[in-house]
Amino acid sequence: MLERPDLELLTSGARQLGITLDDLQLHRFSIFTRLLLEWNRQFNLTRITTPREMVIKHYLDSLSCLTVAEFPLDAKVIDVGTGAGFPGIPIEIVRPDLNLTLLDSTRKRLFFLEAALLELGLSGVSLLHGRAEEAGHDPLRREFHDIAVSRAVARLNILAEYCLPLVRYNGIAILQKGPGVDEELEEAKPAIELLGGEIEKTARITLPESDIVRSIIVI
Ligand code: SAM
Repeated sequence: MLERPDLELLTSGARQLGITLDDLQLHRFSIFTRLLLEWNRQFNLTRITTPREMVIKHYLDSLSCLTVAEFPLDAKVIDVGTGAGFPGIPIEIVRPDLNLTLLDSTRKRLFFLEAALLELGLSGVSLLHGRAEEAGHDPLRREFHDIAVSRAVARLNILAEYCLPLVRYNGIAILQKGPGVDEELEEAKPAIELLGGEIEKTARITLPESDIVRSIIVI
């Protein structure tokens, strides 16, 4: 659960990102926190174990994706290597109109996500078990999504190979990275070009209520 100080932190942090959270959204974040804490005892889903840290390092970090690009109404979004649901679940809590797919190669994470989605009452989300590089070859998935998001899955050159085939022509990939990304970006440029991508921007974001700096690469 999220107690009042954590809810206030989430509310004010989201506001700093330009997002106003309503009661239902805050309730869903609270439920998700309880589930993460409960399941984490058994399944080692995340190393972050305090609600305050979850708010900053998981929820606000995930929501920062919404600030770097427009997410059209009902857009088809895929979260590649979602793990315990980041950044996908916080994005879906704020934008339940999105048609979100959570993709991961580890089945136990999908068990958690299945249970979480049921409790959260988020019905517009599909789960996909498998490897991103295989999904990119599936005719039903290839060039199907408007937006791919991904956090903490692989180096950028590999991540581009995972994400770009899944995105339609003129779609976007939003890749979340740590503060120092220049070297990785240089390394990834040939792969991005080969895959028909173009780097639109690299946004640097300081997470609200912290000094944590993150880079978001929009391709
Ligand atoms: N994105 C989440 C986050 O930021 O908390 C999870 C990050 S975790 C470090 C990396 C996740 O990517 C794991 O859940 C792993 O199973 C998944 N993963 C790694 N390589 C993958 C691949 N090729 N296809 C699908 N999932 C992959």
